[in-house]
Amino acid sequence: MTSGQSDPVIQFGRPDEAERPLGRSIMRGALNQCPNCGTGKLFRAYLKPVDHCAVCGEDLSHQRSDDLPPYLVILVLGHIIIGGYMMTDILFQLPIWAHLAIWAPITVIAALLIIQPIKGGVIGLQWALRMHGFGGHDDSPEPFDQGSGPA
Ligand SMILES: [Zn+2]
Repeated sequence: MTSGQSDPVIQFGRPDEAERPLGRSIMRGALNQCPNCGTGKLFRAYLKPVDHCAVCGEDLSHQRSDDLPPYLVILVLGHIIIGGYMMTDILFQLPIWAHLAIWAPITVIAALLIIQPIKGGVIGLQWALRMHGFGGHDDSPEPFDQGSGPA
């Protein structure tokens, strides 16, 4: 690459807006940090995000993570748990009650451990992409235009 080319950074939003790197924002959210400053806490309780960052004042009430964190937990854990179950079944030939006794608690504990970092990552993603109210605009749906379509 020659020195005259610009960096291959994908820009979202208007060029005059402050840069919001996607990977850094997701990582900060996953580490329970404010995606804007990286210093303030993102969660005030287990899965309750703060409304505003205590350090930089960033408005985090716009997050709409909804069902995506549990969906991602199921997607990730499903592959790990089923893979682990099949691997141990091949190696040890355990009865089904033993598999249940092993894998059911592991599934519950792992889900409880990873849902907060995944939800934080989703909030960081939404913040970086200026989704919902994070871009400074209203999140309400646009009015349906009935006049401009074909007759
Ligand atoms: Zn902050």
